[in-house]
Amino acid sequence: MSGPLSGQVALVTGASRGLGRATALELAAAGAHIIVTARSTRGQSTQATLPQTTVDDTADAIRAADGQATPLRCDHTDPAQVEAVIRHIAVTHGRLDVLVNNAWGAHDRHGVGGGPELWDEPLEQLRIMLLAGAYSDYVTSLLSLKHFMAGQGRGLIVSTTWHTEEPPGWLPYEVSKAAKNRLVYTLGHKLRDRGIAVVGVAPGWMRTELMLQHHTEQELAGQTETPHYAARGIVALARDPQVSRHTGRILDVGELADLYGVTDLDGTQPQWYARHLEGRAGG
Ligand code: NAP
Repeated sequence: MSGPLSGQVALVTGASRGLGRATALELAAAGAHIIVTARSTRGQSTQATLPQTTVDDTADAIRAADGQATPLRCDHTDPAQVEAVIRHIAVTHGRLDVLVNNAWGAHDRHGVGGGPELWDEPLEQLRIMLLAGAYSDYVTSLLSLKHFMAGQGRGLIVSTTWHTEEPPGWLPYEVSKAAKNRLVYTLGHKLRDRGIAVVGVAPGWMRTELMLQHHTEQELAGQTETPHYAARGIVALARDPQVSRHTGRILDVGELADLYGVTDLDGTQPQWYARHLEGRAGG
């Protein structure tokens, strides 16, 4: 498929479902060849009860829409597996233009909440969020830079995240996102003069496959967006020749909508963060 990103290669981590899957589909629709990674392959899924949530399903959906994709199994918390993905990209494509760090392990523990007090929070929660989160972003970014992007002298690294300067929320989530965001900030500043932009993208509450499984339509109505909204914001960043002006920053999806005119699938431009802050200020 030809498009504004034709000839470019993008690696989207955690692309078997959710925001990663939508981002892979939208980047492919813009013409890029997508390397689709996650741990789930057909017949070996981390989400046995959720149909069509493997890297193979995402790649099939891209190809069905005339796009180009390569599904690869990868646990991004394991540097050796990430190195193998990078080697594959080197041998097959010889370039990497866009890296979307989206692998997110938090939902491995879905349904296991904390107790009534802060100190009853399962200690394991922070560890899994830091591992498939800041650590996997760190490993994948550094290996991508070492093998491609630094040598190419151009590129875009996106991290999917959350605004941590908001009023405080769930403790392990806030701590893990702060680590991701600090990585965006520091990497962005260190790479500023090398032609590589590093940007965080914060979606609102999304109707992902998991959210639809765990919340009722009534709970989700009126305050959610599809993952394609943030995914389209990421495509807009990848298309922007002046994307380096955003380096080191976290942009929420409403800001991306204002900047680039992107819309959700239904043509709307939800402003989840603006509404969230208003609500907190009021209450
Ligand atoms: P999700 O539906 O749980 O998807 C997470 C993805 O990461 C899956 O593809 C999963 O695939 C993959 N993954 C998990 N551990 C991995 C590992 N060790 N190695 C490789 N891949 C791994 O999550 P999401 O809701 O799309 O969230 C994506 C991002 O958006 C996160 O940063 C989240 O905080 C942010 N966000 C989400 C919402 C929301 O409403 N959902 C709101 C604001 C921000 P496998 O299980 O197959 O490995």
